[in-house]
Amino acid sequence: MKLQLHWQILISIILAVVVGTAFEPTTTIFSIPLLSIFEFLGTLFLNALKMVIVPLVLSSIICGMSGIGSGGNLGRLGGKTLAFYMISSLLAILMGLFLVNMIQPGIIGGEPAKELLGLTIDGQVEQKLESIGNRGAGDIAEVFLRMVPPNIVFAAAQGQMLGLIFFGILFGFFMLKIENEHKNIMIGFWQGVFQTMMFITMFVMKLSPYGVFGLVATTAIATDFRELMETVGLFFLTVAMALLAHALITMPILLKVLGRVNPVKQIKALSPAMLTAFSTASSSGTLPVTMECMEKNAGVSNKTTSFVLPLGATINMDGTALYECVAAMFIAQAYGLELSFSVQFTIVVIALLTSIGVAGIPSASLVAITVILSAVGLPLEGIGLLMITDRILDMMRTTVNVFSDSCCATVIARTEGEETSLQ
Ligand code: ASP
Repeated sequence: MKLQLHWQILISIILAVVVGTAFEPTTTIFSIPLLSIFEFLGTLFLNALKMVIVPLVLSSIICGMSGIGSGGNLGRLGGKTLAFYMISSLLAILMGLFLVNMIQPGIIGGEPAKELLGLTIDGQVEQKLESIGNRGAGDIAEVFLRMVPPNIVFAAAQGQMLGLIFFGILFGFFMLKIENEHKNIMIGFWQGVFQTMMFITMFVMKLSPYGVFGLVATTAIATDFRELMETVGLFFLTVAMALLAHALITMPILLKVLGRVNPVKQIKALSPAMLTAFSTASSSGTLPVTMECMEKNAGVSNKTTSFVLPLGATINMDGTALYECVAAMFIAQAYGLELSFSVQFTIVVIALLTSIGVAGIPSASLVAITVILSAVGLPLEGIGLLMITDRILDMMRTTVNVFSDSCCATVIARTEGEETSLQ
């Protein structure tokens, strides 16, 4: 009997944490640094997942469009999807806002924690922000500009998913209008591409326990858990609790009420994708796995997943929105800023809007947080504080991001009258 994939991944995550914490970053084996072996394994796996994304997204959207058909259907499906994404992100932010106000991680012993935490900006932060560059940008006008890229090949090469999705929608829509003879060839071709990509994904996933081990061990070896708990432990716990509450209370209620499905079955069906999201901290990178889980395990039609999931991986980020809000509030508290209703309202709105523009790559929300901090007049140095916990919280928020996308796909499928295997 072979162990199921999600158990294999879970075991490798646990092993990686054990191994990563047991060794120092400087440990070598046959004079090769252990860290670079872990990094190699992790990067190889991540590259293999990313390799599939462009052809997968394009072919899946085009196939999805040929299933959706007429303009009216597209409008209805698109409207429902966007509404769900907005509402779930807003609920996530409000959960974060509630807990950060209750716990007040930025206030220690009744005083703003600024002095205690020794807020400083270091080179590491600047470097990180630079490496994310415009891919994490949070400007809403820019989101629209990115949606219509002047050069689709360039957009694809840059991993700009929004442009790819928009092009795919147009392509699929107008493909249905050409002569039958050509249309059938095109549909057959794109379906062939799509199915091949899914097979490649399955193949990559078979090797995922090794890749996941590399990714998680890299994080574990580089993180000083004691320092983390001593300095920003309360902030870490606030974010973790809010994410858990959103995933285990809010989303299940939405699933139950709107989709009439069993949330436990949803979590089970999605577990390989959620574990992959946790290890990679990239919702774009996880997309192939999410699609596979939703179609194979949850029984949601390709018509729905192919439209809802790529869009979700790009614009719907509940965990990220929640994190942005809690992080900005934490920094505001630590600096002793007056947190009036209007400041909090501004933070909520910007967190919601910027989470749409954040790319599905590791650490992308740091850029969005700089947008919030500037908007409410806080110094960007505060970001230095977030660096200590960023990777681990990134892993958690990405898991929530992916879970929320899948919940949307389920709800849309059910409201469109689909029988899934989640009831
Ligand atoms: N890493 C997140 C994702 O890929 C984005 C972020 O919050 O930084 O979904």
